[in-house]
Amino acid sequence: MRVAIDTQPGGAGPNEDWVAGTPTLAIVLDGLSTAGLDTGCRHGVPWYVAHLGGQLVAALADPGSTLTAGLASALERVAALHPECDLANPGTPSATVAVLRQREGFFDHLVLADSPIVLEGHERFTVITDLRVEDVLPDLKAEVEQYETHTTEHKAALKRFVTAQRQTRNMPNGYWVAASTPEAAEHALVGSIPAEEVSAAAVLSDGVSRLVAEYRMATWHEVFTTLRTGGPQELINSVRKVEATDPTGRRWPRYKSGDDASVAFCQWPKR
Ligand SMILES: [Zn+2]
Repeated sequence: MRVAIDTQPGGAGPNEDWVAGTPTLAIVLDGLSTAGLDTGCRHGVPWYVAHLGGQLVAALADPGSTLTAGLASALERVAALHPECDLANPGTPSATVAVLRQREGFFDHLVLADSPIVLEGHERFTVITDLRVEDVLPDLKAEVEQYETHTTEHKAALKRFVTAQRQTRNMPNGYWVAASTPEAAEHALVGSIPAEEVSAAAVLSDGVSRLVAEYRMATWHEVFTTLRTGGPQELINSVRKVEATDPTGRRWPRYKSGDDASVAFCQWPKR
């Protein structure tokens, strides 16, 4: 398949997303915000997602490996790269994972947390995502969303929310993300779809998918039209233009004015 990628930071800070395309893989990782809290790791989230992504590509080089096994192996390898860090810290660097793999006659997909894979079928779009994160701590989440971004109240509420979230992360009654233990891979949502049922696909971080899901300023049909005509960069630009109309999150309450945004757009020649 042909994969076109782009990723842009949401603000002045470093980009904590990571994206890659190979002839058979499209991968998006979205590092979770630390909200300035301790992580126990001296490397940081950009380091974590870059190494997890690289290890994931390596682990999936064997087409016989399942996506779940590849993710478990990559998690283990990244943990082994920084044993000197406190990997048991509840704030250890972590990320969402979305992987689409092309193989003989099929596409395999894996999502862990809320970076979606959108499949363009012949008649409709299918969004594959894992929204378990949205079910935890609804009260603290609502508290963050009642303040405009850039206010001290918003920042304080976000710290309370992230602190509490960390206690539910990778716990049986919470939600699962890629972090320091391979066990999380078993909780990823996986599936396969016959290749002839899909005409194109987009793997996205939620910094992009919110254009449709939260902002409701575009349809998936419009998103795929933009991807075909202007490519991933044009799609990210259109998200930024919408966010610029609501810089403090009054209309669309959110954790920050603009989130890191990543796209891997997958097409394949007609046979
Ligand atoms: Zn580290």
